[in-house]
Amino acid sequence: MATLKIDNAKFVLTMDPERRIIRDGSVLVDGQRITQVGKATEMAGVTADRTIDASEMVVTPGFCNAHLHISYAHDIRGIFPDTLGGGEYIQTAYKLKSVMSEEEEYHTTFLAITELLKYGTTCFLDPGSTIHIDACMKAYGDSGVRANLGRQIAVKPNPVSLPVTPVDEAITQMEDTIRTYDHHFDGRIRAWAIPYSVDLATPELLKAGKEMADRYQTGLSYHVNNTPASIESHKQEFGKWPLEYLEDLGVLGPNVLLPHLIGAEDPDIDAMARTDTKGVMIPTASIKGGSGTTVKGKLPEMLAKGVCLGLGTDAGNNSNLVETLRTMYLKTVLYKDGRMDTKAMSAEKALEMATIDGARALGLADDIGSLEAGKKADIVLFDTKRPEWRSLFNPVINLVFSADGRSVHTVIVDGQVRVDAGVPVFVDEWDLIQNVQVLGQYSMDRTGISYPQKWPIV
Ligand SMILES: [Zn+2]
Repeated sequence: MATLKIDNAKFVLTMDPERRIIRDGSVLVDGQRITQVGKATEMAGVTADRTIDASEMVVTPGFCNAHLHISYAHDIRGIFPDTLGGGEYIQTAYKLKSVMSEEEEYHTTFLAITELLKYGTTCFLDPGSTIHIDACMKAYGDSGVRANLGRQIAVKPNPVSLPVTPVDEAITQMEDTIRTYDHHFDGRIRAWAIPYSVDLATPELLKAGKEMADRYQTGLSYHVNNTPASIESHKQEFGKWPLEYLEDLGVLGPNVLLPHLIGAEDPDIDAMARTDTKGVMIPTASIKGGSGTTVKGKLPEMLAKGVCLGLGTDAGNNSNLVETLRTMYLKTVLYKDGRMDTKAMSAEKALEMATIDGARALGLADDIGSLEAGKKADIVLFDTKRPEWRSLFNPVINLVFSADGRSVHTVIVDGQVRVDAGVPVFVDEWDLIQNVQVLGQYSMDRTGISYPQKWPIV
């Protein structure tokens, strides 16, 4: 198997249990996995098939995006006015998506992955929102990204025009998806049980998803509803908070991942903590959608109670932003400001959420999320010979508050270099961009959906 040495990095942020930051460090990769991490001087005699000179670079684990609707957006990104409400947005987005052919979905997914990888995100979870899974699988295979997928399932009539599937059939579809796709591409693909949401599921469907996640040792994820109306109806009907009700159903647990969680209150958070249920925070979507993160977000309380949280970005045309670095930045500064307390959230915690905690949330912490011997080699190298990185004394502070994806130099997934000196090696990037631009116009033409812009384009 081919060996790769990342040599003499200015700092290696290992994210290992001691959170060691190695100054003048090196990392050795053999095939899929990391075999050695240490001081460059100690590893000076180690040779490899390829050596990357990482002097003046900061090395981190690849980032995890634990909630990203991968194929929603890149062809029609930016068409929605920023004043549009969530209800109209989602219905229109689904209408646009419904005309997408298999080939179109491949290209739009491939561009989304290109953006992820180019800016350091090596692993993501699509919450079951792709239509043609095989086309998306081809994009996952061609790009070399690490992905968690599922099939979005609804068993109740819904405003987003998802097909309504009888419960029995829905359960079979969920299991078929896991059996068909789990562990593909040398283990880079994990397949999950993903009912769309609690609102569009039945208790039977959610329980079947949890049972499957346990039996196949994979995950279960679904959207939850913590709006005031949902809280009220849960109290009326069950005498419980929404997540207490889910705990009673037996559909919370260490392999369950709940996105958004805006509106979750202490009893919900306690239910997550008791069951080791994972959460994913999605600041880019929630603040642009006016969801009230800064008013009612409970990140510090969740962390204080030991709930494991990853980061996500939702869809590329409601958040419009799928980059992990800016997500880390937002998650940190929003809570400092909202609570008027600099201690409310730290850069270190943001980086944990993007790496080791994100990997735990995805059930992948044995393999990724840190740079340690034995783990799979998902690694990002940042070029710090750039103004935004200097001066450089504390690499965590610079990474979270000053840097962004533009300084990503090299990205390695599963031991393979996927971005080399800033260039994705698996795609003709400009060719793909032009292709997807054409597809976006085509989608709007076919559906008749477009929004007038506020200012005249002359
Ligand atoms: Zn979502």
